[in-house]
Amino acid sequence: MTQHVDVVVVGGGQAGLAAGYHLRREGLDFVILDAGTAPGGSWQHMWDSLHLFSPAEHSSLPGRLMPAQAGGTSPDAGHVVDYLADYEKRYDLPVQRGTRVEAICRDGDRLLVEADTGTWRPRVVISATGTWSRPLLPAVPGRGVFTGRQLHTVNYRSPAAFAGQHVIVVGGGNSGAQIAADLALDGKVKVTWVTQRPPRFLPDDIDGRALFDVATARRRALDAGRSDTGRSDTGGVASLGDIVVVPPVRAARDADLLKASPMFVRVDRDGVVWVDGTRAEADAVIWCTGFRPALSHLAPLQLRSTRGHIATEGTLAVDEPRLHLLGYGDWTGPASATLIGVGRPAREAAREIAALCARN
Ligand code: FAD
Repeated sequence: MTQHVDVVVVGGGQAGLAAGYHLRREGLDFVILDAGTAPGGSWQHMWDSLHLFSPAEHSSLPGRLMPAQAGGTSPDAGHVVDYLADYEKRYDLPVQRGTRVEAICRDGDRLLVEADTGTWRPRVVISATGTWSRPLLPAVPGRGVFTGRQLHTVNYRSPAAFAGQHVIVVGGGNSGAQIAADLALDGKVKVTWVTQRPPRFLPDDIDGRALFDVATARRRALDAGRSDTGRSDTGGVASLGDIVVVPPVRAARDADLLKASPMFVRVDRDGVVWVDGTRAEADAVIWCTGFRPALSHLAPLQLRSTRGHIATEGTLAVDEPRLHLLGYGDWTGPASATLIGVGRPAREAAREIAALCARN
């Protein structure tokens, strides 16, 4: 049976919950459909030692401050999962789990949401499916012939699985630096950290709070009608580096365990080969090479896209006035892929949807 609601939110991670909070405040009738079986979105699947790069009070969704975690300034992923589970319960958000949305199509004046457990016919859809389910692996020659283990960030848990092995960690972002540090500090794993360009550590006293301030400055610049140049007026801290020096990264760097090698040019059966012919044998390669937005359920709408992003103005899809996209990255609002940053675009989306529903 097809169910009618004002809004279907696809995805019950932090972005979907922030959307739910604001949809409730706008008095709209909605459901949140989530493919997962438990609360917490991608935070359930992060590696064991991961900690946020900001303190709890700077990692909160709208309406409810994240409580501090006992014994530390930066909460771990389990603490975030507990916070999201509590958030969902506290605001009585209607999350229907174990429901994967397979396709969204146009159906007269409404959209049709087809999931593996049923069909919904909302006026508006908010897509908040994140990026975790679409790990990006680069097209490096020979990747298919390597006989060792290959993992992506999404598959890494802890150093225990690599004791006595040589592991090559690829990627100069936060995930690459943190996973290389995690392995190196264990003391039982030989690590080679490989980055496309020399790693750029942020100054030690800068954490996620400063990155959020940058996003806020960018938002103000955009609101004031200034162009998004990424120059120092809107991107000051980001221009200083990419990697937040969280405590394990600092410890590994200070112990000289975090020196980066340049990117290799190909992979062979047993290892990797650099441009000058130098090679290194390896037991495993961990690709910390980023993500793409999980948008395959939107394919039937045939929306214009560039570099895998659907064209948006704010959160609204330019070519479909009944579709909002929330959370995926800065292209759906500055810092919208962070805990503290998703609140504002979620509020704006809910307001626009309420206005649309009031008109129709
Ligand atoms: P997700 O958490 O991925 O949730 C998406 C949900 O949608 C999932 O529950 C999934 O099951 C569901 N879903 C997907 N497809 C479908 C479908 N077709 N149908 C139904 N459901 C579907 N941010 C910070 O603020 N601070 C940090 O310190 C920080 N550290 C990070 C460290 C790492 C390693 C990474 C990868 C990210 C980090 N982030 C951090 C960024 C950000 O907060 C996360 O990426 C965040 O989890 C994104 O939330 P989301 O709700 O958009 O997506």
